[in-house]
Amino acid sequence: MTDINERHNKRMEKKKAVIDKNIAQADKEKGLLLVLTGNGKGKSSSAFGMIARSLGHGMKVGVVQFIKSRTDTGEEGYFSRDPNVDWHVTGEGFTWDTQNREQDIETSEKGWAIAQNMLQDPSYKLVVLDELTYLLSYKYLDSDSVLADINGRHDNQHVVVTGRAASDALKEAADTVSEIADIKHAYREGIKAQKGIDL
Ligand code: ATP
Ligand code: MG
Repeated sequence: MTDINERHNKRMEKKKAVIDKNIAQADKEKGLLLVLTGNGKGKSSSAFGMIARSLGHGMKVGVVQFIKSRTDTGEEGYFSRDPNVDWHVTGEGFTWDTQNREQDIETSEKGWAIAQNMLQDPSYKLVVLDELTYLLSYKYLDSDSVLADINGRHDNQHVVVTGRAASDALKEAADTVSEIADIKHAYREGIKAQKGIDL
Protein backbone atom coordinates (compact mmCIF):
# COMPACT_ATOMS: atom_id res chain seq x y z
CA MET A 1 0.00 0.00 0.00
CA THR A 2 1.30 3.46 -0.81
CA ASP A 3 2.04 5.91 1.99
CA ILE A 4 -0.85 8.19 1.08
CA ASN A 5 -3.39 5.36 1.28
CA GLU A 6 -2.03 4.17 4.60
CA ARG A 7 -2.17 7.69 6.07
CA HIS A 8 -5.74 8.10 4.79
CA ASN A 9 -6.86 4.83 6.39
CA LYS A 10 -5.26 5.76 9.74
CA ARG A 11 -7.01 9.12 9.68
CA MET A 12 -10.38 7.53 8.86
CA GLU A 13 -9.91 5.00 11.64
CA LYS A 14 -9.42 7.83 14.16
CA LYS A 15 -12.31 9.80 12.70
CA LYS A 16 -14.60 6.78 12.95
CA ALA A 17 -13.76 6.34 16.64
CA VAL A 18 -14.70 9.99 17.33
CA ILE A 19 -17.92 9.84 15.29
CA ASP A 20 -19.00 6.51 16.82
CA LYS A 21 -18.41 7.95 20.30
CA ASN A 22 -20.50 11.06 19.52
CA ILE A 23 -23.32 8.94 18.10
CA ALA A 24 -23.29 6.72 21.18
CA GLN A 25 -23.50 9.80 23.43
CA ALA A 26 -26.47 11.30 21.54
CA ASP A 27 -29.03 8.91 22.94
CA LYS A 28 -31.86 11.23 24.05
CA GLU A 29 -35.36 11.18 22.56
CA LYS A 30 -37.21 14.48 22.57
CA GLY A 31 -39.92 16.37 20.74
CA LEU A 32 -37.98 19.16 19.04
CA LEU A 33 -38.70 22.75 18.17
CA LEU A 34 -37.06 23.69 14.88
CA VAL A 35 -36.91 27.21 13.49
CA LEU A 36 -36.14 27.73 9.80
CA THR A 37 -35.51 31.38 9.11
CA GLY A 38 -33.48 33.75 6.92
CA ASN A 39 -34.03 35.49 3.60
CA GLY A 40 -33.06 32.65 1.28
CA LYS A 41 -35.33 30.14 -0.40
CA GLY A 42 -35.87 26.78 1.28
CA LYS A 43 -37.61 27.31 4.63
CA SER A 44 -41.10 26.01 3.87
CA SER A 45 -39.82 23.39 1.46
CA SER A 46 -37.51 22.04 4.17
CA ALA A 47 -40.51 21.76 6.50
CA PHE A 48 -42.37 19.88 3.75
CA GLY A 49 -39.40 17.51 3.51
CA MET A 50 -39.82 16.68 7.21
CA ILE A 51 -43.52 16.04 6.58
CA ALA A 52 -42.54 13.43 3.99
CA ARG A 53 -40.11 11.84 6.44
CA SER A 54 -42.68 11.72 9.22
CA LEU A 55 -45.36 10.22 6.97
CA GLY A 56 -42.89 7.58 5.86
CA HIS A 57 -42.78 6.49 9.51
CA GLY A 58 -46.57 6.44 9.80
CA MET A 59 -46.64 9.56 11.99
CA LYS A 60 -49.63 11.92 12.06
CA VAL A 61 -48.85 15.45 10.86
CA GLY A 62 -50.62 18.77 11.39
CA VAL A 63 -49.91 21.80 9.20
CA VAL A 64 -51.10 25.35 9.71
CA GLN A 65 -50.14 27.81 7.01
CA PHE A 66 -50.35 31.40 8.17
CA ILE A 67 -50.29 34.41 5.81
CA LYS A 68 -50.52 32.20 2.75
CA SER A 69 -53.98 32.00 1.23
CA ARG A 70 -53.45 29.80 -1.78
CA THR A 71 -54.83 26.29 -1.63
CA ASP A 72 -53.52 25.18 -5.02
CA THR A 73 -49.93 24.49 -4.04
CA GLY A 74 -48.23 21.23 -4.98
CA GLU A 75 -47.50 20.45 -1.33
CA GLU A 76 -51.10 20.77 -0.23
CA GLY A 77 -52.38 18.86 -3.26
CA TYR A 78 -50.02 16.01 -2.56
CA PHE A 79 -49.85 15.79 1.23
CA SER A 80 -53.47 16.45 2.11
CA ARG A 81 -54.51 13.29 0.24
CA ASP A 82 -52.78 11.37 3.02
CA PRO A 83 -55.16 10.37 5.86
CA ASN A 84 -52.34 11.10 8.34
CA VAL A 85 -52.23 14.77 7.30
CA ASP A 86 -54.40 17.55 8.69
CA TRP A 87 -53.69 20.62 6.52
CA HIS A 88 -55.05 24.12 7.14
CA VAL A 89 -54.47 27.21 5.03
CA THR A 90 -55.53 29.99 7.36
CA GLY A 91 -54.06 33.15 5.82
CA GLU A 92 -55.75 35.76 3.73
CA GLY A 93 -52.71 36.87 1.81
CA PHE A 94 -49.69 39.03 2.44
CA THR A 95 -50.00 42.01 4.75
CA TRP A 96 -49.36 44.36 1.82
CA ASP A 97 -52.30 42.74 -0.01
CA THR A 98 -54.82 42.69 2.81
CA GLN A 99 -53.84 46.16 4.11
CA ASN A 100 -56.13 45.60 7.05
CA ARG A 101 -54.48 45.11 10.42
CA GLU A 102 -57.65 44.35 12.35
CA GLN A 103 -58.66 41.70 9.86
CA ASP A 104 -55.14 40.25 9.87
CA ILE A 105 -55.25 39.93 13.66
CA GLU A 106 -58.60 38.19 13.55
CA THR A 107 -57.34 35.80 10.86
CA SER A 108 -54.19 35.12 12.90
CA GLU A 109 -56.18 34.31 16.02
CA LYS A 110 -58.40 31.87 14.11
CA GLY A 111 -55.31 30.18 12.70
CA TRP A 112 -53.66 30.03 16.09
CA ALA A 113 -56.72 28.34 17.61
CA ILE A 114 -56.23 25.49 15.09
CA ALA A 115 -52.54 25.30 15.98
CA GLN A 116 -53.37 25.23 19.71
CA ASN A 117 -55.62 22.21 19.21
CA MET A 118 -52.78 20.38 17.47
CA LEU A 119 -50.26 21.35 20.15
CA GLN A 120 -52.59 19.95 22.81
CA ASP A 121 -53.20 16.71 20.97
CA PRO A 122 -50.39 14.16 21.38
CA SER A 123 -51.60 12.16 18.39
CA TYR A 124 -49.93 14.79 16.18
CA LYS A 125 -46.29 13.77 16.07
CA LEU A 126 -45.22 16.70 13.86
CA VAL A 127 -46.81 20.15 13.73
CA VAL A 128 -45.67 22.57 11.01
CA LEU A 129 -46.39 26.25 11.65
CA ASP A 130 -45.57 27.71 8.25
CA GLU A 131 -44.79 31.47 8.14
CA LEU A 132 -45.61 31.90 11.85
CA THR A 133 -42.74 34.37 12.40
CA TYR A 134 -44.62 37.19 10.65
CA LEU A 135 -47.53 36.96 13.11
CA LEU A 136 -45.07 37.53 15.91
CA SER A 137 -43.04 40.30 14.26
CA TYR A 138 -46.21 42.22 13.32
CA LYS A 139 -47.52 41.51 16.83
CA TYR A 140 -50.72 39.98 15.46
CA LEU A 141 -50.26 37.33 18.15
CA ASP A 142 -48.72 37.72 21.58
CA SER A 143 -45.25 36.21 21.46
CA ASP A 144 -45.21 35.05 25.11
CA SER A 145 -48.47 33.16 24.86
CA VAL A 146 -47.51 31.58 21.52
CA LEU A 147 -44.24 30.38 23.05
CA ALA A 148 -46.08 29.13 26.15
CA ASP A 149 -48.42 27.12 23.90
CA ILE A 150 -45.48 25.66 21.98
CA ASN A 151 -43.46 24.90 25.12
CA GLY A 152 -46.51 23.37 26.81
CA ARG A 153 -46.96 20.73 24.11
CA HIS A 154 -46.62 16.99 24.62
CA ASP A 155 -43.04 15.73 25.15
CA ASN A 156 -42.84 13.67 22.00
CA GLN A 157 -44.22 16.16 19.51
CA HIS A 158 -41.97 17.93 17.02
CA VAL A 159 -42.77 21.49 15.91
CA VAL A 160 -41.32 23.26 12.89
CA VAL A 161 -41.69 27.02 12.58
CA THR A 162 -40.79 28.78 9.33
CA GLY A 163 -40.57 32.41 8.24
CA ARG A 164 -38.11 35.25 7.87
CA ALA A 165 -36.74 37.26 10.79
CA ALA A 166 -37.46 34.83 13.63
CA SER A 167 -37.39 36.66 16.96
CA ASP A 168 -34.63 36.09 19.51
CA ALA A 169 -37.20 34.60 21.92
CA LEU A 170 -38.26 32.03 19.32
CA LYS A 171 -34.66 31.16 18.46
CA GLU A 172 -33.79 30.78 22.15
CA ALA A 173 -36.74 28.46 22.70
CA ALA A 174 -35.76 26.28 19.73
CA ASP A 175 -33.59 23.17 19.80
CA THR A 176 -32.46 23.59 16.19
CA VAL A 177 -32.25 26.86 14.27
CA SER A 178 -31.22 27.21 10.64
CA GLU A 179 -30.83 30.49 8.86
CA ILE A 180 -31.01 30.20 5.11
CA ALA A 181 -28.97 32.86 3.35
CA ASP A 182 -30.10 34.49 0.12
CA ILE A 183 -27.16 34.18 -2.24
CA LYS A 184 -29.15 34.35 -5.50
CA HIS A 185 -32.80 34.06 -6.41
CA ALA A 186 -34.20 33.49 -9.90
CA TYR A 187 -36.98 35.97 -9.11
CA ARG A 188 -34.49 38.81 -9.41
CA GLU A 189 -33.79 37.69 -12.99
CA GLY A 190 -37.46 38.26 -13.76
CA ILE A 191 -38.46 34.61 -13.52
CA LYS A 192 -41.89 33.99 -12.03
CA ALA A 193 -42.67 31.41 -9.34
CA GLN A 194 -42.31 27.99 -10.95
CA LYS A 195 -44.60 25.03 -10.26
CA GLY A 196 -42.78 22.25 -8.45
CA ILE A 197 -40.09 24.66 -7.25
CA ASP A 198 -41.88 27.60 -5.63
CA LEU A 199 -45.45 26.33 -5.26
P1 ATP B 1 -39.89 27.78 -0.21
O1 ATP B 1 -41.37 27.68 0.09
O2 ATP B 1 -39.63 27.74 -1.67
O3 ATP B 1 -39.06 26.84 0.62
P2 ATP B 1 -39.29 29.87 1.64
O4 ATP B 1 -40.29 29.29 2.56
O5 ATP B 1 -37.86 29.81 2.07
O6 ATP B 1 -39.45 29.26 0.22
P3 ATP B 1 -40.75 32.36 1.74
O7 ATP B 1 -40.17 33.57 2.34
O8 ATP B 1 -41.82 31.65 2.48
O9 ATP B 1 -39.55 31.40 1.35
O10 ATP B 1 -41.24 32.75 0.30
C1 ATP B 1 -42.13 32.00 -0.43
C2 ATP B 1 -41.93 32.24 -1.91
O11 ATP B 1 -40.97 33.26 -2.15
C3 ATP B 1 -41.36 31.01 -2.63
O12 ATP B 1 -41.96 30.97 -3.90
C4 ATP B 1 -39.91 31.29 -2.75
O13 ATP B 1 -39.27 30.71 -3.90
C5 ATP B 1 -39.86 32.77 -2.86
N1 ATP B 1 -38.62 33.27 -2.25
C6 ATP B 1 -37.93 32.70 -1.25
N2 ATP B 1 -36.79 33.38 -1.00
C7 ATP B 1 -36.78 34.41 -1.85
C8 ATP B 1 -35.89 35.50 -2.11
N3 ATP B 1 -34.77 35.64 -1.41
N4 ATP B 1 -36.24 36.39 -3.08
C9 ATP B 1 -37.38 36.24 -3.77
N5 ATP B 1 -38.26 35.27 -3.58
C10 ATP B 1 -37.97 34.35 -2.65
MG1 MG C 1 -42.03 29.89 3.35
